[in-house]
Amino acid sequence: NLSDRLTASFKQLRGKGRLSEADIDATVSEIRRALLDADVALPVVRAFAASVRERAKSAEVSQALNPAQQVIKIVNAELVEILGGEARDLHFAKHPPTVIMLAGLQGAGKTTLAAKLGRWLREQGHTPMLVAADLQRPNAVTQLQVVGEQAGVPVWAPEPGNGVGDPVAVARSGVQQARDKQYSVVIVDTAGRLGIDAEMMQQAADIRDAVDPDETLFVLDAMIGQDAVTTANAFAEGVGFSGVVLTKLDGDARGGAALSVRGVTGKPVLFASTGEKLSDFERFHADRMASRILDMGDILTLIEQAEKAFDAQQAEEMAAKIAGDGDFTLQDFLVQLNQLKKMGSMKKMLGMLPGMGQMREQLENFDEREVDRVEAIVNSMTPAERTNPRILNGSRRQRIARGSGTTVTEVNALMERFDQAKTMMRQMARGAGRGVPGMGML
Ligand code: GDP
Ligand code: MG
Repeated sequence: NLSDRLTASFKQLRGKGRLSEADIDATVSEIRRALLDADVALPVVRAFAASVRERAKSAEVSQALNPAQQVIKIVNAELVEILGGEARDLHFAKHPPTVIMLAGLQGAGKTTLAAKLGRWLREQGHTPMLVAADLQRPNAVTQLQVVGEQAGVPVWAPEPGNGVGDPVAVARSGVQQARDKQYSVVIVDTAGRLGIDAEMMQQAADIRDAVDPDETLFVLDAMIGQDAVTTANAFAEGVGFSGVVLTKLDGDARGGAALSVRGVTGKPVLFASTGEKLSDFERFHADRMASRILDMGDILTLIEQAEKAFDAQQAEEMAAKIAGDGDFTLQDFLVQLNQLKKMGSMKKMLGMLPGMGQMREQLENFDEREVDRVEAIVNSMTPAERTNPRILNGSRRQRIARGSGTTVTEVNALMERFDQAKTMMRQMARGAGRGVPGMGML
């Protein structure tokens, strides 16, 4: 498989200088193939490969990773970034109801999504209502009523007098009803066709004009592969949309659709639907999608481990430095701090340290957010200040406090603790052999 091929071809090269052009090209072309296999659209793949190549060429040499691993790490980071990182929130209207319109091909999962989204919103304290504006299929209204009931969300359906046979009228009266009855969110389900067709697109556009949605979500079946781009383009042009929902991610689709749609339309993926049950629904996670597209879970884990092992080596060097005559600086401390954060919860770490007595108590009260504050302070110092904190006079401390969004008192307190910690760590390193570097600071 791909990850084996990649690791095998670069096994010998760990830490051997800068990534060579040949290494980069070989890895990038393998990645290209992986993306095409995942149904990412060709123009998107091209642009992506180019930017990865660019980034790889300027990457610093890593001591921890071999060239292939380094490129894969870059690819993964780039994927996550392009996929939008953390999904954005829904845009809610200033004056409720917020109107959310769903659009997409028939079978994409709109009706199911209406109920899922309704249920999710209800759990967050909103009062949603669903509107059955798909009058195309004979059972569409009933289907929405059934799933709406399962979700515990009321459904506005056409009845004689409010526009039987006219989806635009139903949508309009639905939103009016929501306004009258003070529902906070209206989700408008619409009709789709198997293929893109002008009449359907026009109907969706008419509904859009009638309800003036705050969000139009394009619902896309992740299994449709290469057709994703054509479909997304057609909907972008015919109706326009503000966000994307990917459905059927429980299937074996590699999820390239996400990248294609994002790449082609620039619209963010907000939610992922992962099954037929109403609870099979979540905010979109770019990192999960990235590893799904690359299908390199193993290799990414490997990369993480290699980096951790390397960090451990650095930590030992640091311990030696503390024990010896070398001066433990704030710069060193910042490195330590980042490693601590990488290692995860301090409290979890505590469980792995035998016989830490007093220290343990200290850690029990440990607030992980404090790490961020300390980091902000150290980050706001110049390199010179980090290596030689003695130069920190009043005005420097003031500048640091401003830069880190803290107060001079906090900066002073940190410096005091830093001095104490240095002394303590020196004692610990000389005595017990190995302490937890940086820990006395917090
Ligand atoms: P619509 O035509 O766009 O309204 O699509 P539907 O909501 O009627 O969904 C079409 C079919 O896909 C139904 O059988 C759903 O149960 C199914 N479906 C919808 N979303 C998902 C999903 O995320 N995973 C799976 N496996 N099936 C889904
Ligand atoms: Mg439907």
